[in-house]
Amino acid sequence: MSESFTSGALVPQPATIPPPYPSAHSAPYWEGAKQGELRFQRCSACGHAEFDPSIICRRCGHRELVWERSAGNGTVYSWTVVWRPQQPSFVVPYAPAIVDLDEGYQMLANVVGCDVADLAVGLRVTVEFHPVSDGFVLPYFRPA
Ligand SMILES: [Zn+2]
Repeated sequence: MSESFTSGALVPQPATIPPPYPSAHSAPYWEGAKQGELRFQRCSACGHAEFDPSIICRRCGHRELVWERSAGNGTVYSWTVVWRPQQPSFVVPYAPAIVDLDEGYQMLANVVGCDVADLAVGLRVTVEFHPVSDGFVLPYFRPA
């Protein structure tokens, strides 16, 4: 662990971290991740890009949301750095970030492939995927 908390390599978590628990309406998202696709929903009525997986458009209330594939490119909106893991299986430091995807939605995922000192609002990032247990795959973002 860094003594200063201002630097440290950001790497994917080990595959031993707890897996996600998909619901019926998030299952297509997790299936996409297994195939290396970042998926989100778009409202067929108003066109709103919707994430996280939902059964109703948060903008207009319409109930028909269609799955689309994101290009996986975005910009860091905000982030934090975790130095005390939630569970022993998590490796620190890690940096959960809110990313503005180019399709117009936000999601939370860890940034990897850089140092803590490189994190910045507005950093351009692109998605990549890494496995966890039970056959699941998690999206991460690295500097583009
Ligand atoms: Zn809508």
